[in-house]
Amino acid sequence: MVIRRKRRTFHRRKVCRFCVDNELRIDYKDSKTLRYFVTERGKIVPRRISGNCAKHQRELTLAIKRARQIALMPFTTVQTI
Ligand SMILES: [Zn+2]
Repeated sequence: MVIRRKRRTFHRRKVCRFCVDNELRIDYKDSKTLRYFVTERGKIVPRRISGNCAKHQRELTLAIKRARQIALMPFTTVQTI
């Protein structure tokens, strides 16, 4: 059994971290940041999970795709079937 505690007063707000943090920029060369928005299988995390705004999600997707082109990011992790 998994015990889940619901914190009633704590209202979790999903905000776009790129909007909040001005220091954080979307850069296709910054694979460290991009990796955060990609699943371990190399898929881009959807907006409803990452909490990004539409504008930044779009930029992020572009950056990830660009990073893939220059082989900084995997398209998918290779799985042996
Ligand atoms: Zn944003």
